[in-house]
Amino acid sequence: MITQDENSEIMLKPLVFRIDENTPEVVKNVLLERGWNKYNEDVQDVADWNLYWRTSAFPMIDHNNVKPWQRLNHHPGTTRLTRKDYLERHLKHMKGIYGASLYAFSPLTFIMPNDYSKFVAEYSREKEALGTKPSYWICKPAELSRGRGIIIFSDLKDLIFDCATVVQKYISNPFLIARYKCDLRIYVCVAGFQPLTIYLYQEGLVRFATEKFDLNNLKNNCAHLTNSSVNKAGASYKKNKEGVGRGCKWTLSKFFIYLRSQDVDDLLLRQRINHLVILTILSIAPSVPSASNCFELFGFDILIDDKFKPWLLEVNVSPGLSLDCSTDVSVKRKLIHDIIELMHFKQTHLTKIKKEPGKASGHQPHISWTGINKDRVCETSKHWCKISWAEGKKDRDQETPGQWINISHFGQKNVVYASSRHTSHSKETCMSSNIFSLLQGKAYNNDLIDVQKKVQVFPKEISTVKLREMKASRDSVSPAFPKIRSRQTTFKPFRLFPSSESCKRKKNIIPYFLSDKGMRPSSHVGDFVLIFPFNEATLAATKNGLNLKKVIHEFQRLVNKQLTSEATNISLHKKTSQGNSMT
Ligand code: ADP
Repeated sequence: MITQDENSEIMLKPLVFRIDENTPEVVKNVLLERGWNKYNEDVQDVADWNLYWRTSAFPMIDHNNVKPWQRLNHHPGTTRLTRKDYLERHLKHMKGIYGASLYAFSPLTFIMPNDYSKFVAEYSREKEALGTKPSYWICKPAELSRGRGIIIFSDLKDLIFDCATVVQKYISNPFLIARYKCDLRIYVCVAGFQPLTIYLYQEGLVRFATEKFDLNNLKNNCAHLTNSSVNKAGASYKKNKEGVGRGCKWTLSKFFIYLRSQDVDDLLLRQRINHLVILTILSIAPSVPSASNCFELFGFDILIDDKFKPWLLEVNVSPGLSLDCSTDVSVKRKLIHDIIELMHFKQTHLTKIKKEPGKASGHQPHISWTGINKDRVCETSKHWCKISWAEGKKDRDQETPGQWINISHFGQKNVVYASSRHTSHSKETCMSSNIFSLLQGKAYNNDLIDVQKKVQVFPKEISTVKLREMKASRDSVSPAFPKIRSRQTTFKPFRLFPSSESCKRKKNIIPYFLSDKGMRPSSHVGDFVLIFPFNEATLAATKNGLNLKKVIHEFQRLVNKQLTSEATNISLHKKTSQGNSMT
């Protein structure tokens, strides 16, 4: 139990977010809803914020200067994936080393102008092979988005480009719903590149073209492009389209329900999507610069063909978060909530300061903690912070004394942080928000109610009533304060989009860096599901730098195993149906 001596009081300080003029409104609104404060540079210290969320990349200096209690929503070097020409280069490199078949989810692509003659050779070869049948290609500016500057063509003379561009095989047999083309927007959060930790969001968007698919008219963007910015402006956007409905979006879960209603094995499709995402991120993982305290939300655009093969079209950083329709609202708001959960911004900083006799507590330390049992927090040399749970807890059975907690994933210096601004507390144990989170997640959890009776809120304008309201609203959207468990729930290898029901049932989420006995990421947080590392061997291969060769080897073993079990299932299915037909 955290004890409160008479001369001290506990300060609960809301977390602070920083944004710029392009930060999506939904991010701001969700953070406010969760009780965060907006950073105000006129009144707050330059480092007095916890999350900086902006659309564009951060200069490297911001990464270098990030403080242990801060997070940035971009990782440096991720344009390697998001510029279409860079993406192609990285995928090609991987194909060269590990074989083209592993990366067969990427359509044949040429980078212009360098690959022009190679493209013409391929175009001619295909033309000859197809005879009178047309072949289809799509030309996309490497750096543009939202369907801008795209041309679909089957005749070489229609290929025009004046900037860095990719020419790609046009997938001319897309999976159609009521003759409308669609693609999937899959959200992926790389919680860290060192060690590589990939979460895939089980909900997402399906984006529809709003005119029926027609290869005889390649100029109709509303039939061939699924970007909502293109289709929103189309004449059929508001119409109630048979089989699709109004607008141009479904949730991913609705899509999978639809597939199941058509007797399609959606699990297999999800598995293939997971493979595609992992392999794509692996293609850049060894080359991204190292940086701590940052994460990246990617939007993968994936087209499914009529044989249910997923094709990677492109990867977006800062995927669109505008709320254009009710589908957007339901998916994107929860997505932001879950990212905040994933980043372990669980609670406000807790500060407990000693009151000097006869003085009100006018001086508020930035982040500090006193009165903690020394055993609980001690500085250690490099990556570890030992926390031993000496004091009594209500759910003692869930705890292990002397748990070793890795904080290197998020902590810049990975040690307890001492705030230099508050020398008056120099003898007190000061620590970073990471440590606060650690403590709050574990030691503080059960004492929260007791402590809340005594909290004083900082800044003072926020009343405790309001704080409780904020906490209540937080709790209504996400599990309450996390508990650390002594024994990590069994490491679940390669969970494939578990049902939302199963996620909702598991209320106590163990944040990534709160694991015991080695760095085990949580298997899921909210609707985010861990897809990498996917077993013990890949977990080991991410320690001390990424052992890509080992990871790919494991990946191939996994795929082979899955193929074998698929084949067994098919033959079993055949035998059963033969058996049934004989009876
Ligand atoms: P942008 O960055 O402009 O959105 P994308 O590569 O995502 O560029 O392409 C825009 C749209 O064009 C996609 O959403 C998809 O509908 C269609 N598209 C792109 N590439 C292909 C392709 N190779 N085959 C079929 N359709 C494609």
